[in-house]
Amino acid sequence: MLAICRKPMASSRRRLSADEMARRGVRLLNKYGMFLECNWCYHTWSPRLRRDLTLPRRFWECPNRCNW
Ligand SMILES: [Zn+2]
Repeated sequence: MLAICRKPMASSRRRLSADEMARRGVRLLNKYGMFLECNWCYHTWSPRLRRDLTLPRRFWECPNRCNW
């Protein structure tokens, strides 16, 4: 279980396993809250949660569009 899925987001349907995230080309960095790292350009970003504290659609997308 990823840290991403804990607590407020536990009820979110948008759960991704580490395998699924790897398939998207990203990995989760847990050092400073919720950060994702792109496997291609190594850009890191923190997806903004929506008002209901669920993850936005396609939160795993690299801002540099590596995995769009
Ligand atoms: Zn990227």
